[in-house]
Parts: sequence; structure tokens; C-alpha cells
Amino acid sequence: MQKIYDTVIIGGGPAGYSAALYTTRAGLSTLVIEKFSPGGQIALTDQVDNYPGFDEGIDGWLLGDKMKKGAERFGAETKFGEVQSVNLSADPKEVCLSGEILYARTVIVATGAQQRPLGLPNEQSLIGRGLSYCAHCDGNFFRGKSVVVVGGGNTAVADALFLSRLAKKVYLVHRRDTLRATKVYHEALTRAENIELCLNTTPVEIYADTKITGIRLQNTVNGELRELACDGVFVCIGRIPSSQLFEGQLSLDESGYIVADETTKTNIPGVFAVGDVRTKELRQVITAAADGATSAYFVEKILSE
Ligand code: NAP
Repeated sequence: MQKIYDTVIIGGGPAGYSAALYTTRAGLSTLVIEKFSPGGQIALTDQVDNYPGFDEGIDGWLLGDKMKKGAERFGAETKFGEVQSVNLSADPKEVCLSGEILYARTVIVATGAQQRPLGLPNEQSLIGRGLSYCAHCDGNFFRGKSVVVVGGGNTAVADALFLSRLAKKVYLVHRRDTLRATKVYHEALTRAENIELCLNTTPVEIYADTKITGIRLQNTVNGELRELACDGVFVCIGRIPSSQLFEGQLSLDESGYIVADETTKTNIPGVFAVGDVRTKELRQVITAAADGATSAYFVEKILSE
């Protein structure tokens, strides 16, 4: 007889393992499926300071690992691998992992979001040669060097500030005349003497031999071109929700986020969307963890009805 899990959670970040903590504590059989390593995006962050309970902050990878172990203490199982397909309307629901069909009474989608690429032709080939999507992972390689940060949101400005403490010079390149980042960051930017703000500017080409050597920028208003020598380029232009697997089954918004309100319920009964993959205003570890708890509450309710 094939095992039917009370819930299968796809994604082992803060949302997924918070859901697992709550479902297992409620006595529900729970499987978490994670592609690489627990923690999702926070595993790439060297310091998380805005998750309560850690008075000196905590390393992101460690926090992810603690969340996994916390859920496993109550019986959560973890399988590593990439889900190939799902049938969310079947009864029980089906999740295909490495050719094996796993069965679940309920499914919690916690697949998060990935970094958005610039779309330059040689972008992929420059990863590891000076191009990065994660200042906290790779910033250390650029001590005393010149780097370009692309983007105008909170991530780009926070990363530019972080890099300004390591690099000799930071160029912050944003396509419009105003930053999207919140005001608190604007003041910090003006205080950082080695950050040069390049507004109305977009990258059109990145030069490299074995490593990145420079970048060509274009003014978005008058079309003027400018070339800068640099050692690294950090791309911080937002994220793409990991929701492709659910297209045609779950309702997605125009940006690809799974449509679900604060209850985390999707358009399919018994299927929930939590964390960064869900439509929401604030995507943070704390809101992801809260989603996980909420989804578990409704899973428990559905299964007891
Ligand atoms: P974001 O807020 O969506 O900002 C993305 C930025 O990239 C925008 O400035 C956007 O320009 C620009 N952009 C998008 N596509 C581009 C392209 N193809 N070429 C050039 N530029 C492009 O993303 P985020 O900064 O990663 O932040 C994501 C969420 O996390 C936000 O809710 C943010 O508040 C939150 N966050 C919070 C903190 C914090 O509070 N400490 C830190 C980091 C992130 P336009 O402005 O022209 O659209």
C-alpha cells in the first residue's frame, strides 16, 4: 500500500519548515521536499538580523538548518530532489519526485522566488567570473576592488551599502531617476562616500577576459554611453516566483505569484501557498514563517472535517 501523507510541503525554506513544525506538532504525517539545501534564499545570506529571537543576528544557512531540525524533532521527513510534476486536483493529490509518485491529502507550496537575470547575452557565462546575484555570498571576493550594483530597490541599496564596506568603489546603477528603495536607505547612501549613484542608467554590455573587466552603461534619457572599469557586477533587480510547476492548476497573478490571501488558501481546496511564492506585500523570513503556521492551521482544520 502506498503511503499517503497528511501533507506534502514543496520547498524547505522558512515557510516550508515553519509549516512542517506546526503540522508535525499537530500529529500530521509531513514530508518536506527541498531541491538543494534547507533555508531557501536565506541560506545564501550571511547574517539575518530581522528575525526575532537572535539578539546578535544569525547566519542564514544556520537559521535554515535550525528550522529543518526543529521540524524533524517532531517527525517531519525531508526528501531532497526537484519535483517534476503535480496533480493537485487528484484525490489524493500527486507529487512526482524523481519518477516516484508521492501521495498527499494536502499540499503546501513553499517554493519561494529566484533572482531575476539582467538578460544580457553573456550573463550566464559570467557567473563565477565576477557576476553575482548575492552580495552577501560573494562580496568578500571584491575587497578593495570596484564593483557595480544594478537595481534600485531595497536589495540593491542594501547590497551597495554592504559592498561599500568591502570594496574600494561601488557604482549603484538604476534605470530610473528615483530609487524604489525606502527612505531609510537614502540617507545611508549619501553617507557612504565610496558609492556613486548612476540614475537613469542601464547596463548594455559587460566586458570580460577570464574575469569581468568593465561594463558599458547607457543613459536611458539621452542614450549616451559610458564605460567603467570594474571587477564585479552584482545584479539585484528583483525576483521571479518559482511557480512554473503549478501553471494551469493554481491561479497566478501577472508576475507569476500564486494567488492566495492571508489564509494561504489557493483556488484548489487543500492546496496552500506560503512564503515568497504567494501574493503578498512584505516578503521576509518572518512573514514566510507566519504563512507556514497559518497554512498548517488550515491543513489541520480540513483534515479534521
Ligand atoms: P524590488 O523591490 O522589486 O526592486 C527591483 C529593482 O530592480 C527596481 O528598482 C527595478 O526598477 C529594478 N529592475 C527590475 N527589472 C529590471 C531590469 N530588467 N533592468 C534594470 N533594473 C530592473 O526587488 P528587491 O529590491 O529585491 O526587493 C524585493 C522585496 O524584498 C521588496 O518587497 C523589498 O522591500 C524587500 N526587501 C526588504 C529589505 C529590508 O527591508 N531590509 C531588504 C531587501 C529586500 P524600477 O524601480 O524601475 O521598477
